[in-house]
Amino acid sequence: PHHGSSTAGIVGSVRGPGELSLAHRGLLFLDELPEFDRRSLEALRQPLEGGVVILSMARGRVALPARFQLVAAMNPCPCGFDGDPDRPCGCHPSDRRRYRGRLSGPLLDRFEVRVTMGRRDGADDGRVADADAPRSARVGAEPSAAVATRVARARAIALRRQRVPNAALAGPALASLALDADARDLLAAARQRTAIGERGVDQVVRVARTIADLAGAEAVMGDHLVEALAFRARPWHDDDHGERAW
Ligand SMILES: [Zn+2]
Repeated sequence: PHHGSSTAGIVGSVRGPGELSLAHRGLLFLDELPEFDRRSLEALRQPLEGGVVILSMARGRVALPARFQLVAAMNPCPCGFDGDPDRPCGCHPSDRRRYRGRLSGPLLDRFEVRVTMGRRDGADDGRVADADAPRSARVGAEPSAAVATRVARARAIALRRQRVPNAALAGPALASLALDADARDLLAAARQRTAIGERGVDQVVRVARTIADLAGAEAVMGDHLVEALAFRARPWHDDDHGERAW
């Protein structure tokens, strides 16, 4: 959906299901995330937790299915150049703060994987201007077909092991995953030294399990856990540090 969509169009109304339900069992992509109406953004939290959206109608409440994979994109600031190695950001710090502040902490917390991408160079060769970008992005990306094969294989491994995809792991099934000693130590350290919280720990373990499956590893190892923790990093580093705990 476009960020100009009404909250009723996103959530659903007496006229019919909204985008959240239309994306059921599929993928919901929200481009320019901070530009969406605040009510639409906050309405994402319920389906992300429970897979349903509850609509209040004149005759009572209606629950519609809304279990989707959420992918969203945003600029680092209104002008889009904050953090760019070649062009300075022209935004006032307060404008940057206001822009990022449209996304609440609890909503951002629902994103299990957060990736900062650099601007692409003019030539369409897959190279990225940001020197911090992953190596694969700088030297020419892997073709999508190869990635799809790898993902399908990892997914099959997960389904064979536990009958549900890693994203659906919770409670005892999540707690019983095999982590090696390194991974356990790192997780314990993250619990102690950061404000990661129990939800954050669960997210990190699910992501680490997926990274391990992509690598064909039996147990989750230290490296997998480190990578999963890195995906929780703040997407921007600047003037408002300390304001939001990622
Ligand atoms: Zn800017």
